[in-house]
Amino acid sequence: MRAAVWSDIISDYRDERDIDDFIQWCSKVGVDLLLPCVNHGTGTMSYHSSLAPTAKVDESWDPLGLILRKAHEANMEVHPWIVIASWGSPVLSYEKGVAYSEVGSPPLQTGHPEYFAVDSYGNSSLEAPSLVYNRGGNCYLDVGKEITQNFILELVEELVKKYPAIDGVHLDYIRYQRFRNTLKVDCSEAKEFARIVKKGDSFWFMGKWAGDPNIYDTKFFFKVTDSKGVGDRVKEITLDREYNYCFCDNCLERFQREAQVRIPEDMRTTEQRSNWILSNEKGKWVKWRADNVTTLVKRIRTKLKRLNPNLKLSAATFPSYPDCVEAVGQDWVSWINSGLLDFVNPMDYDLPPEKLKSLVSGYRQSISRKGFPVYAGIMTSQSYLIGAGDVKAHVDAIEKAGGDGVTLFAYSLWSSGFRRKKSLPPLQEYDEQLTKTFGTTR
Ligand SMILES: [Zn+2]
Repeated sequence: MRAAVWSDIISDYRDERDIDDFIQWCSKVGVDLLLPCVNHGTGTMSYHSSLAPTAKVDESWDPLGLILRKAHEANMEVHPWIVIASWGSPVLSYEKGVAYSEVGSPPLQTGHPEYFAVDSYGNSSLEAPSLVYNRGGNCYLDVGKEITQNFILELVEELVKKYPAIDGVHLDYIRYQRFRNTLKVDCSEAKEFARIVKKGDSFWFMGKWAGDPNIYDTKFFFKVTDSKGVGDRVKEITLDREYNYCFCDNCLERFQREAQVRIPEDMRTTEQRSNWILSNEKGKWVKWRADNVTTLVKRIRTKLKRLNPNLKLSAATFPSYPDCVEAVGQDWVSWINSGLLDFVNPMDYDLPPEKLKSLVSGYRQSISRKGFPVYAGIMTSQSYLIGAGDVKAHVDAIEKAGGDGVTLFAYSLWSSGFRRKKSLPPLQEYDEQLTKTFGTTR
């Protein structure tokens, strides 16, 4: 069984010693496939880029360059991990000198607002970000739009030209975003406000940024789906927020043309149009969206092979296939079967051995290419803590189901040495078990 590891260049390494520790840990525990992230959903890059701002790191050093040199000396492969669709927060443009350096390009948030996806209510993700990850929420790129795809291709090309020694490129968030938030609000003390809330109303929640109270860094959108009360006095409202993309004018026009669908004229707002599509032409919509992502993967593959035929392409994918085709437009098994990927790292997080086994067997049945490398991703965390003694059971389950290896999420969780150095409590002492499991099979 082969072992791979995900790591995050922007947050994991501060100096050359950090990188030496990382390489030594990988060598000790038997990891030889390194997937270090160059942007990790921040909208900034871990190196000087002419396309996106540089993350706030010490500019006198080159972490990816060092990782490449030291990993290759130790006979390990390095496939930089690029987060595609998740692109930082809308407040990034205010954070000069705080979260990103002034070197490089302006953030896409200000330079190219047209690259960002629009939700089913008609809000750009720049205006109505999601509540996760970054302060100020997270924005998503419109991965189906040709100009956004062109930007992603340029980014991949820049990475390959800057670091010709890389062994491949590892894609993440290569999909649309999809989830839902529900919020209940107690209105019993709301006085006059409680009378005016109706089902179907929209709410914007605003919050001030700690870095500058003149800036509202949180601006979250919700829709009232239910209200409870007595007479016209509302006691409690239920707010709902669906993150479903992309319903920008460009996508709505292209969907109609390419999928041969005609949205009725009287559907005027984006919300009406998206509702109409999802109630009347959902099948065509699901296929069209998945085709957009597949087209992007195909374009990246073609670009890579043109730059260097030896480069491999891989992806971190959703665990439940084929559900993810409908949910997020990610038909990753079809990418494999049509020869677009060289290995895959499904994100099978938070799962006990039995469940891992059934998922990985399912992949094997769907993947038609014999011997195609599947390195299932496993995560340990406070909420799903894998005991040091249970590591082997997880790895064995994957192996029995036909998996070729494991991808650890992530270096910062599995290495107790790393955690101690960063003054974080170790989750478990995994090194010995990992060494026993992988160290001897290399
Ligand atoms: Zn769009």
